[in-house]
Amino acid sequence: KPSDLFRPGRENSRGVNSADEGVLARLADTFAGAVELSWSATPLGAEVGTPMRETLNPADLSDVVGHYVESTPEAVNVALIAAAQAQPGWASRSPEERAVVLDRASVFLEERTPVLLGLIMREAGKTLANAVAEIREAVDFLRYYAEQVRTGFSNDAHRPLGVVACVSPWNFPLAIFMGQVSAALAAGNVVIAKPAEETPLIAAQAVAILVEAGAPEDAVRLLPGSGDVGARIVADHRVNGVMFTGSTEVARLIQRTLADRVNPDGSPVTLIAETGGQNAMIVDSSSLPEQVVQDVLTSAFDSAGQRCSALRILCVQEDVADRVVEMLKGAMEELSVGRPDRFATDIGPVISVEARDGINAHIERMRAKGCEVFQVALPASCADGFFVPPTLIEIGRVGDLKREVFGPVLHIRRYVREELDAVLAAIRETGYGLTFGLHTRIDGTIRHVTARTDAGNIYVNRNTVGAVVGSQPFGGHGLSGTGPKAGGPLYLVRLLAQAPSDFTA
Ligand code: NAD
Repeated sequence: KPSDLFRPGRENSRGVNSADEGVLARLADTFAGAVELSWSATPLGAEVGTPMRETLNPADLSDVVGHYVESTPEAVNVALIAAAQAQPGWASRSPEERAVVLDRASVFLEERTPVLLGLIMREAGKTLANAVAEIREAVDFLRYYAEQVRTGFSNDAHRPLGVVACVSPWNFPLAIFMGQVSAALAAGNVVIAKPAEETPLIAAQAVAILVEAGAPEDAVRLLPGSGDVGARIVADHRVNGVMFTGSTEVARLIQRTLADRVNPDGSPVTLIAETGGQNAMIVDSSSLPEQVVQDVLTSAFDSAGQRCSALRILCVQEDVADRVVEMLKGAMEELSVGRPDRFATDIGPVISVEARDGINAHIERMRAKGCEVFQVALPASCADGFFVPPTLIEIGRVGDLKREVFGPVLHIRRYVREELDAVLAAIRETGYGLTFGLHTRIDGTIRHVTARTDAGNIYVNRNTVGAVVGSQPFGGHGLSGTGPKAGGPLYLVRLLAQAPSDFTA
């Protein structure tokens, strides 16, 4: 169990959890075990001879994590036929029976934590702490949706959508994947799951665990592959609902595709899209600089900034800006950037060469525009993979940022008190509304700022990442998503064709 492997741990000088040496030695063995395993992801019924593709460890390109088969149009077709046949059987199982499958899968996840940690760290480049959190979140989703369906659903009153496509990103390759799939299954749907092309091997383990836990093989079909596979799946008339998490651009493409067709009963095809953010934090002159720095470090750089919730724009009141920025730079220099298999690592790699080059191009563009840029130096070991050093960029206007930069890059916008409302307006005008942070010790400012903010998740005097399933439902508005919030009481209802008329959350 994770709780055995990782006792709460001491906080080291950087505030990073460090387990004791005996625990780390056991973990190192486990990690070595995961390295030796041969991982693969293949759609059921894939034609013999279909070429295999490699997935690589983004921290070490000499490490081939495993292989997957790109799903062909025929594989998509076969999966959709099988899923449609499996749907009535799965939907007719009682809510309690479906809940038991999810609960059992959560136990398997816990039992297999050691080996899954190794896989997540290698395929997704996650640090140890992030990989542990990823597994815990997947467990939480399974148990939360199981409990909801067990206590609140009846097959007489709740009719599922049918066949649901789950299209997921690489940045939470287990938690988001499992969250989508388990919610769809809980509500009585069958699933066609298209994981990100960067992390199909983790998804394959998740599906194997669900099947072992009692989900019929045809009720949860994995179709690994590129975005083209996703596009083909969502365009198919046999898909009755789409759960998508990823970029705002791809969500728009999917929405356009779905707008062209309706379900056999004439209803529109359901789309739940959870997308990107341009997340900001306001820090006023009453805030506590030490706490601000700690929370900014976590919000902006944890997971190498590859969280949709990550902080992108820090708006600091001029009176304290020099002090906060100076302390922040000092704290950034203390971060340990490097390979996740060095367990003391705070910040791992970014996911791919495209990601690295895109982030670096943004930094260079901002530098060329005259923005001041601060970066920490990368250690030599980072030459083996795709790394971007934690970076600060001073900007003049929030509007200078046109799109989400998905990496460890934090923009600083200094403001004087009289500008606060204008800064809040500029944040709203980005059109995104995912997370928002505020550091202040003035009650009136909390009321004033939050009333002028349109974000799904607002955090006051803490960091802006790591929403907890069940207690902090997660999701955004506008360009950040359609809702309902994942891990919240309204999520499963959106996965129904028909909800009881007296439904209340
Ligand atoms: P992406 O949009 O590139 O890909 C997401 C998934 O969509 C992948 O499986 C991809 O193969 C698939 N896809 C690509 N083109 C497609 C198409 N035309 N039709 C159907 N499917 C297609 O996103 P990504 O790079 O994997 O993930 C990072 C993005 O996800 C960031 O923008 C981040 O903010 C966002 N994100 C949002 C949340 C949230 O909860 N709001 C959570 C995590 C990530």
